[in-house]
Amino acid sequence: MTELLQNSILEICYLIASVTFILGLKMLSSPDKARKGNLYAAYGMGLAILATILFKEELSSDKMLNYGLILGGLVVGTVIGMRMALKVKMTAMPQMVSFFNGMGGACAAVISIVEFDHISHSGTFEMGMLIVIILGLIIGAVSFAGSIIAYGKLEGKIGDKAFPGGQVINIGLLLAILGLGIYMATMASPEPMYLYILLTLSLLYGILFVMPIGGADMPVVISLLNSFTGVAAAFGGFLYGNQAMLTGGILVGSAGTILTVLMCTAMNRSLMNVIIGSFGGGGAAAGKDSEQGTIKEITATDAAILLAYANKVSVVPGYGLAVAQAQHTVHNLEKILEDKGVEFNYAVHPVAGRMPGHMNVLLAEADVPYPKLQEMEDANGDMASTDVVLVIGANDVVNPAAETDPSSPIYGMPIIKALDAKNIIVMKRSMGKGYAGIENELFFHEKNRMLFGDAKDSLEKLIAEVKNL
Ligand code: NDP
Repeated sequence: MTELLQNSILEICYLIASVTFILGLKMLSSPDKARKGNLYAAYGMGLAILATILFKEELSSDKMLNYGLILGGLVVGTVIGMRMALKVKMTAMPQMVSFFNGMGGACAAVISIVEFDHISHSGTFEMGMLIVIILGLIIGAVSFAGSIIAYGKLEGKIGDKAFPGGQVINIGLLLAILGLGIYMATMASPEPMYLYILLTLSLLYGILFVMPIGGADMPVVISLLNSFTGVAAAFGGFLYGNQAMLTGGILVGSAGTILTVLMCTAMNRSLMNVIIGSFGGGGAAAGKDSEQGTIKEITATDAAILLAYANKVSVVPGYGLAVAQAQHTVHNLEKILEDKGVEFNYAVHPVAGRMPGHMNVLLAEADVPYPKLQEMEDANGDMASTDVVLVIGANDVVNPAAETDPSSPIYGMPIIKALDAKNIIVMKRSMGKGYAGIENELFFHEKNRMLFGDAKDSLEKLIAEVKNL
């Protein structure tokens, strides 16, 4: 096969792969097609890898060694990835996504190091190429270190650690990274030592900017890190002149950026505050945490009567619903109440659960019709005419402290205004706190009744009671 033909086939394969990524991403926006979209993009990625192995011109004289390394890497990665994906509990998905995101960042940083080494052995650097190498290294390393810290936080292994002067250190680190990066980019042949200093500073910054972020602000950081990995991968694609990698990176980077902007709006935060790691610090330590009064309980029988005779019921799903895996059970309650003529919908907060879009994915898995999922603004608009709001395993996203307590780590975050409904029933196991680690005065409000127990068990009891009515 001639080299021209070989290159043409390779480019066509990359083009097909790029189209599958775009199609896949488009399909991910609809819960019905998301699974198929994921598969399309995976097939595209498989094609791009296979085409690279078969048609990319030989990189070194030792072709068999290269094939051995590539195949070895594929086998090890596939075995570890599959084991993790098969074993992971649904509630631990966010941690796994963070971990995988970190691995993407690490790959981008490693590509920069390898390319730097490769070019420095073969002559002087072209300035454009050097800038791409530097940016890939910085963004990849920040994304890797930040994602691993985020993984530790979501896993509950690392707490929020704000330290005095943290913001100043972060700004200092950012300036040092920027200064050194620009200095290196102006050199014809920079010493590898500079690259390793840049790597160390970037890793340090990644750790320090995610470390203090707590309260309810992690979702913004997670989507920001996601976009970093995409951008870093795009730099890798640029370095190798690989269209598939470039398109994939750009798609992840831009989708992540759009998500970050949406998350910032949802959380009422500014992006600058995220970048210098200045919000949410303190977590459990901050906020009102005093004795709030007495709570009132409700039995499943009384709750069922309230629900069955309501005109309109709204469910606020939260992380606890995912823990209890109660999505199918709540869908059953929805169907039974609708048969009794009750209007039923779900008030979905954008950061409910532990990953962006968590509740949408969870409820889609149980075949809850998408039109029944109300966005926060619409749900809040309807709340006054809602007879019963059923808060299932949600806590921070309905906490009025976000509106009333400026010392709270979630202050300023828009919430689902459950208090506006005529009756509130909160379903959770105990008086345990949510992710932000703060007390919730909603639970003590005179309109509220607590239905204690695992969300799935309680929902099953409710269904049995409603059927008996
Ligand atoms: P929260 O974490 O605030 O609260 C969840 C509640 O569920 C807990 O209070 C817990 O109380 C209860 N619960 C746990 N297990 C069960 C169970 N089996 N049955 C019934 N209840 C249960 O959840 P929200 O969804 O309200 O808020 C999400 C929080 O996570 C926000 O602070 C958000 O910022 C943060 N976050 C979100 C991310 C995202 O991208 N969506 C990413 C990272 C963090 P009890 O123990 O008493 O049962």
